[in-house]
Amino acid sequence: ASVMSPLPEGTATHCPYCALQCGMHVTQTDLNQAEITPRDDVPANQGGLCQKGWTAGALLRSPHRLTTPLIHGKPAGWDEALGYAASRIARIQDAHGPDAVAVFGGGGLTNEKAYQLGKFARVALRTSQIDYNGRFCMSSAAAATNRAFGLDRGLPFPITDLGDAGAVLLAGGNVAETMPPFVRHLNPAGLIVVDPRETPTARLAALHLQNAPGTDLALALALLHIAIADGHVAEEYVAARTTGFDAVRDSVSAWWPERAERVTGVPVAAMRQAVAMLAEAGNAVVLTGRGAEQHAKGTDTVTAYINLALTLGLPGRPGSGYGCVTGQGNGQGGREHGQKADQLPGYRKIDDPAARAHVAAVWGVDPADLPGPGRSAYELLDALGTPEGPKGLLLFGSNPVVSSPRSGHIAGRLAALDLLVVADLVLSDTAELATVVLPTAQWAEEAGTMTNLEGRVLLRRRAVAPPSGVRSDLEILSGLAERLGRGGSFPADPRTVFDELRRASAGGPADYSGITYEKIADQGGVFWPCPADDHPGTPRIFLDRFPTPDGRARMVVVDHRPPVEDVDADYPYYLTTGRLLAHYQSGAQTRRVADLTEAAPEPFLELHPDLADHLGIRPGDMVRVTGRRGVTEATARISAAIRADTVFLPFHWEGPNRLTNPALDPVSRMPEFKVCAVNLAVVGGG
Ligand code: SF4
Repeated sequence: ASVMSPLPEGTATHCPYCALQCGMHVTQTDLNQAEITPRDDVPANQGGLCQKGWTAGALLRSPHRLTTPLIHGKPAGWDEALGYAASRIARIQDAHGPDAVAVFGGGGLTNEKAYQLGKFARVALRTSQIDYNGRFCMSSAAAATNRAFGLDRGLPFPITDLGDAGAVLLAGGNVAETMPPFVRHLNPAGLIVVDPRETPTARLAALHLQNAPGTDLALALALLHIAIADGHVAEEYVAARTTGFDAVRDSVSAWWPERAERVTGVPVAAMRQAVAMLAEAGNAVVLTGRGAEQHAKGTDTVTAYINLALTLGLPGRPGSGYGCVTGQGNGQGGREHGQKADQLPGYRKIDDPAARAHVAAVWGVDPADLPGPGRSAYELLDALGTPEGPKGLLLFGSNPVVSSPRSGHIAGRLAALDLLVVADLVLSDTAELATVVLPTAQWAEEAGTMTNLEGRVLLRRRAVAPPSGVRSDLEILSGLAERLGRGGSFPADPRTVFDELRRASAGGPADYSGITYEKIADQGGVFWPCPADDHPGTPRIFLDRFPTPDGRARMVVVDHRPPVEDVDADYPYYLTTGRLLAHYQSGAQTRRVADLTEAAPEPFLELHPDLADHLGIRPGDMVRVTGRRGVTEATARISAAIRADTVFLPFHWEGPNRLTNPALDPVSRMPEFKVCAVNLAVVGGG
């Protein structure tokens, strides 16, 4: 709409992309376009949107939409496609057992879909083999917060509380590009950013700690060492609300600042300044993002930052705390409702007999028939098509050909399957390999709930009709279940599914039982836990106690270890990866929006001028980046914003993740996306 002709207010909903879940209105124009305008009644964005959100209407009218199912690349009817998929599933399971068919989900799916996918795997397929791309996202933070606090909710407080914090330390997050409206909640004068690159977020900050990739844990240990040495321990809080402090204090005595400077590259004076800012701010918050978390030591790294926050007495105090900046649109809800290999709905553990009994009763099955835990995301993808692994895979809302570590190898595993069924709205890089492609409705074409990075459950309303020929993910699951002889248990109506989800989550850590679509609409969102119809929800958890057996947060001793793959003579530079303002995750959606591809048309290799001089690389040169697992090429972009020992690739295109390391965190099973070793060579002039 032009400025001259303001739009009538459209349907109030939320953005299709990241975990901020900015509020927006979607209005269908006379020309059948979908116009986006920001909502100012949603605390997360308060009238702001980023470039991705502003252009989301183009996604709804994309010429790249799939509108007919495909079997082996050829158009097919729905009956034929669903019948073909179901018969192949049955044949594979008859021959090889239930675990021969796997399911892979996504952190962008609504709560209803995430719930139904987990139920579909365990009840319709009876397979233990289900996991999702959120394992690649915030699983380290989830594991660390569960270990420390007994519960994982990304931000355990409303995002607006950040405005009350005099200091915020953000380790490994680039919110100014990934979710720009987040920045309005931060006070730049009190902002400390930890990042190997001087990102737009780091440029906003009062203090930038530019550490070497893979050293966030050492840095956190040194910050805690300084906090203790300088007398900033919140003695009363530590005594009353934590356990394990003495052992942690003793362990960080080995991390004196000069040693940490040698390991991290961060000057001692900057570390001291960071601690002073946090300790003297009154209210302070420690946040982690993927930069600190996507490591084979990600859980321990987050634990070290939580130890720092606990020592300073922050978690559970209004205006203070620790939080994880969740990335995917439903990264929070997506990890609560059972699409994770080790979980049942309500954030219950799948190996807990009481949890199994509760959920089995809601599902009308015998608890003994529920499968146990399956493989984690990378382990599942790596096993596909092997003699011991699944022969068939159903994939919803994910694009692992781009987003998996060692992605070239994973593309080979997907290609080795007997059956790959992909449900997506476009022919993603992964859908191109599929036996059966099922075209789906998207975001503003269907209703559902999302749980944003605050743990606030939001309502996405249907604003426009989907194109004819597509079905919702819930309709697809319903159709497959019917053909597998499990019809009746898999309704396609989101509200019906949500009502069942409420019952399944009742009494669990993430209790949604008191949340209804009406309550969400009335309150503008409801924070879980919300255990009763007359309960308003819980904006701040941990205020009085932590949900551990003794009510105290657990401080856990952790120690630094080098990256799994360090630099050497053959591969002398660190590679790290990250996001750009114009694109979201694997780019399957945003690479099909013209304004966004114009803003960021292709991947680039960011490197420091000294490194470029050393290697004779000029701006615009095509550079081959070679690692132990693969090769990719990108044009050189020379910038003093990055360390001279490190290069950067944005991961929104197929290529960068061919190089990344699938070494897994022993607790969270998070791969080491954020650091590996590479070599560089010019292959063409710019
Ligand atoms: Fe908001 Fe994230 Fe959407 Fe941008 S991508 S408009 S920050 S929800």
